[in-house]
Amino acid sequence: MLNGTCAALNYNAVHELVDLLHLHHDSSFWSAVDQVMPDYAKDMKWLEHNGAGIILESDQ
Ligand SMILES: [Zn+2]
Repeated sequence: MLNGTCAALNYNAVHELVDLLHLHHDSSFWSAVDQVMPDYAKDMKWLEHNGAGIILESDQ
């Protein structure tokens, strides 16, 4: 497994948890993600470049 895989799956887990607290992907959602995982943007980029759309939600 590539190193990025763990980080990306970790991001996905954080995203799912924050989804429980914030119903919409608005600024409060992203600031909550940022608090838990300050470098989440890097992991999102990894997901984009590795075709992980399958594990992202369809509401993105
Ligand atoms: Zn979500």
